[in-house]
Amino acid sequence: MFQKVHLQLTAMCAGTITAVLIIMSLCYLYVSEKNLYENQYHSFQNDINTIATSLEQQTVISMEWLSKMESRGNYTFYVLDNGIPFLYNRLNGFSDSPDELILLDKCLSAYQNSQEYSMIELELQTGGLYNACLHMEFPFDPDGGRHEYYASVIELVREDSTLQVVILFPLAFLKEQILSQRIRFFLINLTACLLLALFSFFFTGRLLAPIIESRQKQTAFVAAASHELRTPLAVILSAAECCRDATSERQTGFLDTIRQEGALLTSLVNDMLTLSASDSQRLPFHQAPVELDTLLINTYEAFEPLAADKKLTLTISLPEDALPLCHADADRLSQLLQVLLSNAISYTPEGGSIDLTLAYQKNHFCLTVADTGIGIPPEDQKKIFDRFYRAEKSRSAKGHFGLGLSIALEIVKLHHGTIRVDSRPGGGSVFTVTLPI
Ligand code: ADP
Repeated sequence: MFQKVHLQLTAMCAGTITAVLIIMSLCYLYVSEKNLYENQYHSFQNDINTIATSLEQQTVISMEWLSKMESRGNYTFYVLDNGIPFLYNRLNGFSDSPDELILLDKCLSAYQNSQEYSMIELELQTGGLYNACLHMEFPFDPDGGRHEYYASVIELVREDSTLQVVILFPLAFLKEQILSQRIRFFLINLTACLLLALFSFFFTGRLLAPIIESRQKQTAFVAAASHELRTPLAVILSAAECCRDATSERQTGFLDTIRQEGALLTSLVNDMLTLSASDSQRLPFHQAPVELDTLLINTYEAFEPLAADKKLTLTISLPEDALPLCHADADRLSQLLQVLLSNAISYTPEGGSIDLTLAYQKNHFCLTVADTGIGIPPEDQKKIFDRFYRAEKSRSAKGHFGLGLSIALEIVKLHHGTIRVDSRPGGGSVFTVTLPI
């Protein structure tokens, strides 16, 4: 399920960013191509202005000059004297090429169809023009595609003749430049899209990781909880079954079993509810100034009889000086001590001892529960705070579901404190909780 969500998120993330990137690139390309055409057209117009001015000043147009101008701007010149192709064209191999004749024809008709030309014609007819040089530039498109040429027709009006110079500038080179720019953009965009897709994949993966982890934990929790619930429920059901046909004396025994297992179930369900409330940040937590020494004495007094029952020595050590108040939730701290003491009593064999200590150092309190019990193997020490984790040897301990230390850890976290264990198998365990003031 998460794989599908991951892919969907990747596609969504990469798709959105890619779309924005493509739109921006297209806008940039459009503006840049437009500028390229405009710049080229302006430089063409400037060149024509220069050529027209030179032509106007020359009485005799030299072929050498024409040829120099032509090669300088990569232009093609066609010169017509009173409508008749000039010798210059012939020298350049023009008059023999029908294609070029057609091109010239088309260009002249485009020029003659223009509005500007009608004005020139009118002035020519009314004799308003004398020794004048007129020119007009226009994008010329002989085959109906995008402008293939920039063209200009220069009219040199003299007393007895009219000289027409048709200048064509092919846009092929510019178009090549534009095409290579488009290819460059396409490749850059393609690379960017691939990188974005990779980035989105890892980014969304990282976003989903905590959700997947919490989901896995939840599933493991439900599986472990169901497993733990199954045993007492099975005992209750079989005891109830046996109860039906048993003598009244034996019935009392079965009912006791049912009550005990029911009590275990209640404690298990309470622990699970505590953890679930803590996960959803709904665990009741009321901080107030707490006298930790009093809290410890009360807990000690509650556990003393239990320890004595198991022939264990329970001692308490408190600092002699008056202690500052601790800002904490007294009920939760008492629950934490209960977990630690209950474990110490359960995992310490008869004749052992348990020491409950409170110390105050550098703005924090230090609570210690030390026992002389079975200890915890090093490989288990990292895991004992996990939910439903029990070290192998303690699996038989009745009423221990492996949730106590998980709850203790949550309580310590709520108080911004720390909890750690020092232990070795057979050498007892020391649980140390530090709480900021
Ligand atoms: P449980 O309810 O099983 O005691 P906890 O979460 O309180 O669950 O403890 C997890 C495991 O840590 C226990 O099953 C036990 O193996 C180990 N443990 C906890 N406290 C002690 C201790 N004082 N001595 C030895 N082992 C302990």
